[in-house]
Amino acid sequence: MTRKLGSGKLVIATHNAGKLKEIGALLEPYGLDCISAGALGLPEPAETGTNFVENALIKARAAAEASGLPALADDSGLSVAALDGRPGVYTADWAERQWFEGEPGRDWFMAMGKVEGMLQAKGAECPRDAWFSCVLAIAWPDGEYAVYEGRVDGSITWPPRGEKGFGYDPIFVANGDELTFAEIEPAEKHAKSHRANAFSKLVKVQFGTS
Ligand code: IMP
Repeated sequence: MTRKLGSGKLVIATHNAGKLKEIGALLEPYGLDCISAGALGLPEPAETGTNFVENALIKARAAAEASGLPALADDSGLSVAALDGRPGVYTADWAERQWFEGEPGRDWFMAMGKVEGMLQAKGAECPRDAWFSCVLAIAWPDGEYAVYEGRVDGSITWPPRGEKGFGYDPIFVANGDELTFAEIEPAEKHAKSHRANAFSKLVKVQFGTS
């Protein structure tokens, strides 16, 4: 029997204001009292996992142990089939300028260009299949945990198109679409994204509805 959150306090194990807002809004109908790891002054653990599940669990467990409360964390990223699933857990790292020029800060156009450059190096016929993944992990202070995985399949397009969304959205076209994730309306993206997919699984199990 899966452990249930019920109502009560839940730590959202992220220091990212955007994620906190999105997760808080998704959980709002279920009567949980959400507090962020940042507001509790919890440290951010190093994401040393080799896959999304490991990293989401590292973040959720660290927050649950430090706070004594159940905690929810997410980890997400882009995987490109022809690049053996890269950037994968290194999706955010590929946008770190210091990797290339010794300067801090994130440059998403550089990161998208790196993906495209690696695909072009494989030749014009190289398949462009890719997917976004999102893993949501809940950890309880006694060590019990639950994991929900979401995914949206699509392909990499070039050049980047669209002003909406964030990260790699301008080069990602979901299967069945012609517009990129940065061209469609946010509500449309949120209805089919990897994060929505993972959340609907969590909500179905934890709150008995989808
Ligand atoms: P993390 O989950 O905070 O480790 O970061 C994952 C990275 O994946 C983000 O910084 C984004 O660059 C990328 N990513 C995750 N979800 C999306 C999305 O919906 N659109 C575009 N990029 C995304």
